[in-house]
Amino acid sequence: MLFGRGRKNPIKLADKGVVEWKYAACGYCSTGCSIEVGLNAEGTPVSSRGVADADVNRGKLCLKGIFEHELFSSAGRGTRPLLRERWHEEWRPASWDTALDKLHDEIRRIQARHGPDSFAIISTGQLLTEEFYTLGKLTRGLIGSNNYDGNTTLCMASAVSGYKRSFGSDGPPGSYEDFEHTGCLIAWGSNLPEQHPIIYWRMKEAQEKTGFPLIVVDPRVTMLAQNANMHLAITPGTDVVLMNALMHVIFKENLHDQRYIDANTNGIEALRAEVEKYDPVSAAKICGIDEDTIRVVARTFARAPAAMQIWTMGINQSTHGSDGVVGINNLALITGNIGKPGGTSLSITGQCNAMGTREWSSCSGLPNYRYLEVPEHRAEIAQAWNVDPEFFPKKRGMTQTDIYQAMEAGQIKGLWLIATNPMSSLPNTARIRRAMEQLEFCCVQDCYQDTESAQYAHVFLPAGTWAEKDGVMTNTERRISRVKPVTLPPGEAKPDLWVFNRVAERFNKDGKVTFPETAGEIFLEMGRLSRGRLADISGMTHELIEQKRGIQWPYTAAQAARGEAPPRGGKRLYTADTTFSHADGRAKLIPLPFIDNNEVPDEKFPIWLNTGRLIEHWHGRTKTGKIGNNNKFSPIPFIEINPALAAELGIQRGEYVRMVSRRGDAVAMAQPTQRVPKNMVFLPFHFHDCANRLTLGLLDPHSRQPAYKQSAIRIEKIADQKAAAMLSMEMRKF
Ligand code: SF4
Repeated sequence: MLFGRGRKNPIKLADKGVVEWKYAACGYCSTGCSIEVGLNAEGTPVSSRGVADADVNRGKLCLKGIFEHELFSSAGRGTRPLLRERWHEEWRPASWDTALDKLHDEIRRIQARHGPDSFAIISTGQLLTEEFYTLGKLTRGLIGSNNYDGNTTLCMASAVSGYKRSFGSDGPPGSYEDFEHTGCLIAWGSNLPEQHPIIYWRMKEAQEKTGFPLIVVDPRVTMLAQNANMHLAITPGTDVVLMNALMHVIFKENLHDQRYIDANTNGIEALRAEVEKYDPVSAAKICGIDEDTIRVVARTFARAPAAMQIWTMGINQSTHGSDGVVGINNLALITGNIGKPGGTSLSITGQCNAMGTREWSSCSGLPNYRYLEVPEHRAEIAQAWNVDPEFFPKKRGMTQTDIYQAMEAGQIKGLWLIATNPMSSLPNTARIRRAMEQLEFCCVQDCYQDTESAQYAHVFLPAGTWAEKDGVMTNTERRISRVKPVTLPPGEAKPDLWVFNRVAERFNKDGKVTFPETAGEIFLEMGRLSRGRLADISGMTHELIEQKRGIQWPYTAAQAARGEAPPRGGKRLYTADTTFSHADGRAKLIPLPFIDNNEVPDEKFPIWLNTGRLIEHWHGRTKTGKIGNNNKFSPIPFIEINPALAAELGIQRGEYVRMVSRRGDAVAMAQPTQRVPKNMVFLPFHFHDCANRLTLGLLDPHSRQPAYKQSAIRIEKIADQKAAAMLSMEMRKF
């Protein structure tokens, strides 16, 4: 038989009996892949495939997207509203009216007794944008609590904060197309092949064509680092030192772009004075990257005709997360690498619609990047919503991470959780458990009834998931894509938009504020509010978005009226003809003194704990833990441990070990590998009751994002391997 040249072993796809394909955008990560779900003759979703004419993924899907249709029938879905008086009692079924009345009455009871901000609302990055907008209108315009946030504080808050400090507004300025034009790419704390596989494919394809150097900064030899031209295995939490040292070399060797700096920025003198202190020899002692490498990277980056930087949680989840983003922006600005093809600072977002919540949820402000602190912004939205502008707070309330501390301290008495699971996702689980137990009232609205957080709820509202709903999502490159209902939510479960509108009716008895019923109408309302702003979407409609397989913002009504086609890709912010969003139109160069405030290994806890993701799983495995084809690759918690450390501790491959931090302990299977240095282990965070039993989660002072990736632990050998195996099976949960 002839294989290889001339003949290919044909791939046979199983015939699932698909009679119809329905369009959506993937509901896992922020890449924004267009997907079609195949339905059989009974209308059951049985297959998924990538959409060939979609610019983002060009027909491809990753391991999660390929099995996404299995989500609809996965175990643990909520199918009817539930109620109970105390959180440890048995649930009893309730009608939607009873459950929603209870939610309304408890919000008003708690607010009347303890003040409007004593009831907190926390959502997610996984709703559709019209749902975020409606929840924001309900919370800011009617309920009136200022303690309202999304779980995006756990992943993207530092990027938002850094963009605002540097450029005056949130909004990633680049595009995936920039990979095709760049002359150098630095990836800071980003493992694209596992976290964003289709963006990795776009990057790799471009690199194979043009050969740009890929420089990966990461303490671990990730899959991306294995493919890098240079891997900088940095000491955790010291990125700002490396950034300052790179700028030190760039200024010293006159490699900066003075013309760009003069024309577009403020603050160059203060920045130069600060980075002057970070000569490569001194910096190397802190960040662990040798002097010579620092110089080579600085020259390679600054001399490239266009250079770009990407990053994810390695930067964001740190006590210097916001500073790290500002440092990346500083590097881009001093070399003139913003707003030109191949020159950008592009935060790779986490959840599928983290961008949608940033733009429209009103969590940190008001819709479309408006600020609560700006009177004109409050007035504009008050007029549009027909509410009293004085009803809006004058500044942002607590972030999610501060809300749990306020619950623990007894300041917040009630909580409405929407599609998020803090018992799994927040650092220091023991502390979050204490906070949840103290609540007078908790409502969980989720598509899954079996989340760890739902066990503390008094009301459970069953919601639709992903393509059981109608609306749009925004991806990492500001591309808005359409999600359409492929099937109906199970049982009595309802789309989140329906739930928000029914709750709104209860707070809006006089009908003063309008809540459109359909996602299409809401999108047009959002479009009107976006006119003339950075994220202008006034030229888009649901129909056009679907037809184009996603449109990047801005796309204005004026462009549409002129008959200008929406861009297929490559749309950038802060190009030569657009200014930055600070009042004077200039970007800020901000000096970043390094303050060493992480938890670091010591005698008692001598090992760095580094946490992160695996390609096959999504967040707390509420979804992928139930999909056999995802779960089979890593069904139990494990750690990557250096073979030298394993040998020193007498630990064999496949043995269970106990990890102990100042917060608690956890058990995982040891997988010796050279991917991690001897003083570090890597623990995927996906597993129930595992990584976050250990993490401290100190908060970034600007973004309030936790430092998940920098904790200190010790490792202990376990004598009773059988008991440890049982415990590990328990952590599988699903
Ligand atoms: Fe979905 Fe992200 Fe995979 Fe694309 S890369 S299929 S958006 S999980």
